[in-house]
Amino acid sequence: MQLIDNYSFTGKKAIIRVDFNVPLNAEFEVTDDTRIRGALTTIKKVISDGGSAVLMSHLGRPKSGPENKFSLKHIIPTLADHLGLDVKFANDCMGDEAVEKSAALKPGEVLLLENLRFYSAENKVKTPEEKAATSKFSEKLSTYADVYVNDAFGTAHRAHASTTVIADFFTDDTKMFGFLINKELKAMDKVLKESKKPFTAIMGGAKVSDKILVIENLLDRVDNLIIGGGMTYTFIKAKGGEIGNSLCEEAKLDIALDLMKKAEEKGVNLVLPVDQVLADDFNNDANTELSSIENGKPGYMGLDIGEESVKLLTDVIMNSKTILWNGPMGVFEMENFRNGTVSIAKAIAASTANGAFSLVGGGDSVAAVNKFGLADQVSYVSTGGGAMLEYIEGKELPGVKAIRG
Ligand code: AMP
Repeated sequence: MQLIDNYSFTGKKAIIRVDFNVPLNAEFEVTDDTRIRGALTTIKKVISDGGSAVLMSHLGRPKSGPENKFSLKHIIPTLADHLGLDVKFANDCMGDEAVEKSAALKPGEVLLLENLRFYSAENKVKTPEEKAATSKFSEKLSTYADVYVNDAFGTAHRAHASTTVIADFFTDDTKMFGFLINKELKAMDKVLKESKKPFTAIMGGAKVSDKILVIENLLDRVDNLIIGGGMTYTFIKAKGGEIGNSLCEEAKLDIALDLMKKAEEKGVNLVLPVDQVLADDFNNDANTELSSIENGKPGYMGLDIGEESVKLLTDVIMNSKTILWNGPMGVFEMENFRNGTVSIAKAIAASTANGAFSLVGGGDSVAAVNKFGLADQVSYVSTGGGAMLEYIEGKELPGVKAIRG
């Protein structure tokens, strides 16, 4: 495997899989350019070495061919602005224009290909037929450049033409990760393989079922496992508590009991909230009451953790040297049920200032640290929710395997 740090792109064309799947408003303007900024280091390295870059990405989920609202041409102004140069565009990633424009690229130039998912069927690998189509599609993309760079961490858990199959058309020394994927892998390995103790994982969000495998894998590594958010109530009900109308996955009660038993056997301190904010409706203006976590109330649902829980969890977090956070502690989108999530985010920031390494990942916890202006006070904010969770589950990510071998 080639390392980007000591590779010289001088005179080379690099095809770079970036993640430009960014939100656009009704005027097709980029409303959050985090992902574009994430790809800049790699693109700038290619350019400043005297190479040229062919950029490829998906945007949204087009189902049946080209659609203006999913066109990557909308992101050109933002990208050109960040790079400080003109960005060329090919209207069809498979068309003659893409072939000609990539062949004509001069050192220092950048070409963006139209949305890869306008060829949805060819782009995904599920069945052998799709694999064959994908190979042809990937092979054609590979002919646009001398070197393949994957820097799209957000799609590294998907086996797609541009993240996986294309790597087969390059040799070991002409395929590599970009700086963003390298940073993501380093942050996750720091947590999973070199964690300083005590190691605390904080799992929140709505559903236990999404996170069972992650929790199981973490039980072999962590000292403390904090459960919060809506998933708390499946554990509380399994323990015999009253949860009223709170979220609960009845089918997962046995699994919750099993996870609690495993935690005990492995000597992991499983920490559940001790109190909660109850609401009589799923609504910011609902009537609220405080109660202990086991004593919910019929007709009410728990939408945030209470102050006693905040104290308890803050104490655990402040005494940790490694922290992994995925998922909010309550319905943080509503102002009246935000306190638990804000307080935990602040505790993570304070513990980081004390020397802990903190990794925050997963759409909602990232949205929370951004919303509270704390993103630069944690050690690392992952750009890939699904990819991060699968890596932490212990799965090999297809996009990583394709390059690492
Ligand atoms: P997830 O996608 O599983 O990480 O879940 C994130 C969502 O869980 C957010 O939209 C939160 O509003 C929601 N959530 C967190 N705590 C609760 C709760 N106690 N009851 C209902 N939803 C919750």
